[in-house]
Amino acid sequence: MASEKEAALAAASTPLDSPTIFDKIISKEIPANIVFEDEQVIAFRDINPQAPVHIVLIPKVKDGLSGLSKAEERHCEILGRLLYTAKLVAKQEGLDDGFRIVINDGPKGCQSVYHIHVHLLGGRQMNWPPG
Ligand code: IMP
Repeated sequence: MASEKEAALAAASTPLDSPTIFDKIISKEIPANIVFEDEQVIAFRDINPQAPVHIVLIPKVKDGLSGLSKAEERHCEILGRLLYTAKLVAKQEGLDDGFRIVINDGPKGCQSVYHIHVHLLGGRQMNWPPG
């Protein structure tokens, strides 16, 4: 498997409105270990976990939100919903002593899938600064 950095650089050269692997997870075309789903958000375990708990939360409707840097005023509600859902899932996963939320953006932010997503990481002591 390509490193996260290589995957991020490769992904940056595809058009931002291209379908991504996350569309196939939303449509259930490919399996995912889904831990939460409602009308707006779906959350599933990351295929390449970076912590004992590593969950990716995405909006079911992309609406041009390939990444945080593309956010517009109309996206405020779904952005808040993603963070609030991350808190609910953290509770569901028993992350009572803390957790980390990450949003990677663009090639330098190591984003490899251009459908906005929030990483929820927990179950171990985090370090600072991140790599
Ligand atoms: P990014 O690097 O911030 O864009 O995060 C994308 C994440 O999606 C990475 O952590 C990948 O491991 C994860 N990922 C990619 N494909 C799948 C999949 O099919 N199922 C679950 N997670 C995936």
